Amino acid sequence: MLLKDLQNIFHIELDAIYGKNEVDSFFFLCIEHYLDLPRFQLTLQPEFTISKSETNTFFKVLEDLKQQKPIQYILGETEFYGLPFIVNKNVLIPRPETEELVDLIIKRHSERSKESQLKILDVGTGSGCIAITLAKNLTNTQVYALDVSKQAIEVAKENAKWNNVIITFIETDILNESCHSVFDTESKFDIIVSNPPYVRELEKREMKPNVLDNEPHLALFVEDENPLLFYKTITDFAADNLELKGELYFEINQYLGDETKQLLLDANFTDVELLKDLNGSNRMLKGTKK
Ligand code: GLN
Repeated sequence: MLLKDLQNIFHIELDAIYGKNEVDSFFFLCIEHYLDLPRFQLTLQPEFTISKSETNTFFKVLEDLKQQKPIQYILGETEFYGLPFIVNKNVLIPRPETEELVDLIIKRHSERSKESQLKILDVGTGSGCIAITLAKNLTNTQVYALDVSKQAIEVAKENAKWNNVIITFIETDILNESCHSVFDTESKFDIIVSNPPYVRELEKREMKPNVLDNEPHLALFVEDENPLLFYKTITDFAADNLELKGELYFEINQYLGDETKQLLLDANFTDVELLKDLNGSNRMLKGTKK
C-alpha cells in the first residue's frame, strides 16, 4: 500500500476526533517507530509503499487511536526531558509539568552535584522518569526510587537499563509506616522528590477519556476526603529522612496549593515556595529542611 494513501485514511478516520495537526503528528510518530523512516521522506518519496504486514500494523494503530488509546501506550514508548522511556498501562505517561519539576531540580543542583555526591529519593516513581532523568543529568548522584506497584517497578527498571543509569529500586508502600524503617540504617537524603497521586474523585469529570480509560487509577486518584494523604506522609517522612538543608520537591494539585504549602510550613520546612507551571497553575512546591 502507498504510505500516503494510508496517511489519507488516518485523516479521514481521525481528524474529527483529534484535529488534522495531531493526526499528522501521530502518523509521523508511527512511521518513525514502525518503519524507521524519518518524516521528511514522506514528502520526498511520495511513492513509498509498505508491506502487507506493515499495513496491518498501521490499521491496528488506527483502531486503537479511534478508541482514544494514548499514542504513547500504542507505541509502548515516549520521550521525557529528551530521554526515551518505555510506558505501558501500569505507569502514567510522563507529563510536561513533571519535566518542569525535574528541570527545576537539575538547575538548582547541577553545580553542587559536581562537587559532592547527592543522595536522592523519588517516591512513587512509576515509569522512573524523575529518578532516571535526575541520575542522567546530575553529575554525581546516588538515586533511590520506590513504588507500591510491582509492575511499575519492572517498567522503571527497564527504563534505567535503557538509559544506562543505576538506580536502587524499592517496592514498598510509603503509606505503610513500618516500611520507613528500611531507610533507618542509611545516611539521609539531600533531595526527596515526589509526584504522588493527587487528582480528587470530584475532578474526574474534568478529565478526558483518553486519561480516564487508559492510565492507572492507582497513580492518579485520591479520596475527596483526604486528598493530601500522600503529601502529609511524605512531608513527615522527609522531615525525618532529609539531611539538614536537604530539599523536598513535590508536583501538586493546582487547586490545593495553599493547603499543601501549609503542610510543609507545619513541619518546619523553610524557604517554602509554590511555583507555577507553563499554564500558570500552581504545580510545584519546594521546601528546605531547617
Ligand atoms: N498531572 C496528572 C494529570 O492531570 C496527574 C498526576 C498525578 O496524579 N500525580 O493527569
